[in-house]
Amino acid sequence: MEAQEREPVAAGDTILRTDGLVRKFGEFTATDHVDLEIERGEFRSIIGPNGAGKTTLFNLISGALPVTDGTIYFDGEDITGLSPQQRVRRGIGRSFQISNVFGGLSVRENVRLAAQSVHRDEYNIVESLFKTTDKYERMNERTDRILERVGLDDIAEEEADVLAYGDRRRLEIGVVLATDPDLVLFDEPTAGMSVEETQGTIDLIEDVLVDQTLMLIEHDIELVMELSDNITVLNRGEILAEGTPEEVANNQAVQDAYLGGMVE
Ligand code: ADP
Ligand code: MG
Repeated sequence: MEAQEREPVAAGDTILRTDGLVRKFGEFTATDHVDLEIERGEFRSIIGPNGAGKTTLFNLISGALPVTDGTIYFDGEDITGLSPQQRVRRGIGRSFQISNVFGGLSVRENVRLAAQSVHRDEYNIVESLFKTTDKYERMNERTDRILERVGLDDIAEEEADVLAYGDRRRLEIGVVLATDPDLVLFDEPTAGMSVEETQGTIDLIEDVLVDQTLMLIEHDIELVMELSDNITVLNRGEILAEGTPEEVANNQAVQDAYLGGMVE
């Protein structure tokens, strides 16, 4: 894997903005007027107690759920009404809780399928029958590059079903990368993992997705403190606090409502 570092965040270059985002389930408000502003290249973590509305927020951003009220801007454009697939094509990727890997297909096929799914204009099956070389080769080269990047080039022909645990994680990240995202949402990617698996997965995300803006929901507070540029704390659907890890750790409301009960 090539060693690359994440660039410092470019201030004033907003990739994602939510404006008064509301999501209700019946009378219950799961997302309560959330205003977010994520800078391009930022590593933003979302934390908060169970039921705070973290997953709902990601569902609104990815389009898995329609908003009740409010607006979502991506790259300065209103994407509130777009389908999940349209958002993927705009550059919003998502991983882990929604499994994106087909067990019966090989590692290579999984990555190429994901790449093709967002590049319909550049590549389509019918056209490729007549113009065999160019686009087909470009897609293959792109697939090879991604396999190399996630360290799966040696086992590209293996069936996804039989992969070892860590390789499966690599493939999931490869599949996200293949959709060419600018922003990637990770909802508790390390849920159920051991300490080593957790660290390995986070390292992999950081190593592979150096050019992407990352939003991470993660319960391991130490990890969040260490990795994030900024942290948003959600509580009962509302933003309770936001800032650098240090600012959030020192925030009295956060300590009272959340960290106090979680960290000795
Ligand atoms: P978190 O990810 O922070 O644990 P969620 O976003 O999953 O929280 O849920 C926030 C609240 O919204 C919870 O009280 C949950 O029960 C409720 N909720 C989430 N999804 C639905 C749904 N589809 N229907 C009804 N209530 C829901
Ligand atoms: Mg959740």
